Amino acid sequence: MKLDSPIFQDADAARIHLEAQRWPHGPNCPHCGNANPDRITKMEGKAHRPGLYNCMECREQFTVTVGTVFERSKIALNKWLLATFLMASSKKGMSAHQLHRMLGVTYKTAWFMAHRIREAMKEDVKSSGPLGGEGKIVEADETYFGPKDTIKKRTIRGKPANSSKRSIVALVERGGKVRSFHVERATKASVRDVLVRNADRKSTLMTDESNFYPITGKEFADHATVKHTGGEYVRYEADRIVHTNTIENVFSVFKRGMVGVYQHCGEAHLHRYLSEFDFRYNRRTALGVTDTERHDQLLAMIEGKRLTYRRIGEAGDA
Ligand SMILES: [Zn+2]
Repeated sequence: MKLDSPIFQDADAARIHLEAQRWPHGPNCPHCGNANPDRITKMEGKAHRPGLYNCMECREQFTVTVGTVFERSKIALNKWLLATFLMASSKKGMSAHQLHRMLGVTYKTAWFMAHRIREAMKEDVKSSGPLGGEGKIVEADETYFGPKDTIKKRTIRGKPANSSKRSIVALVERGGKVRSFHVERATKASVRDVLVRNADRKSTLMTDESNFYPITGKEFADHATVKHTGGEYVRYEADRIVHTNTIENVFSVFKRGMVGVYQHCGEAHLHRYLSEFDFRYNRRTALGVTDTERHDQLLAMIEGKRLTYRRIGEAGDA
């Protein structure tokens, strides 16, 4: 897929592409679920919007964007597809300023589009099941992100005192997927909550020597730690290599992207930025995923995640 593809230039081409992605076997009525081609008619003629269908089961009309993050948007669908493509393929992310310039929409519109797209990138953790499993390694770690504190204070229970920094806990299956979470405060309890909800307990857990992990680690098949304070980053054992480099790399890509691309990010929106970076990592080129495939996977995730401007606006500004 190239940037001069018709799907990024022309609204009809974009719609036809999206229909082919969402409805490989023909239109589905989003109102009642009817997928019988004999019971769905295409509304032809100038009196109708292009791409309008009529369901003969429930007598409702629909287009391919009903029930998706693109629904009821005044932005041309080809611009939406360009925005999703750019965000799916830029390793460090795409700022609202860049989108605003590339799409020819206002900054505010670009910002809103980007947040809707991040919402679509959110993994359905419940249906994809836990990370790891028997014989697999799950690395877990926590990090802190946000504006620099002017006064250095002692860390109290996982968050520097009076800090504006936000706590992130993440886990990654080595060679597999990552899940990152913004937690109010990193503690033994909040870290355990993230771990047991997202990792199979038959996995081997690998962490640094932080005291968040030893107790929860006992709930896993095994728990191995590297002692960063002792200068140990990798330990070669008979049948495994103990380290947390995978999860640290994930944090480093996230932080470089957030510093370079997203000038500042409101705490209320942090979870969406994490979804964005997780989305790309989980479909990274190293796993054999092309930019086009990653984009198509994103287009398959746009359903049921409509985010209203009100919902974003009320969550605080960014
Ligand atoms: Zn219907």
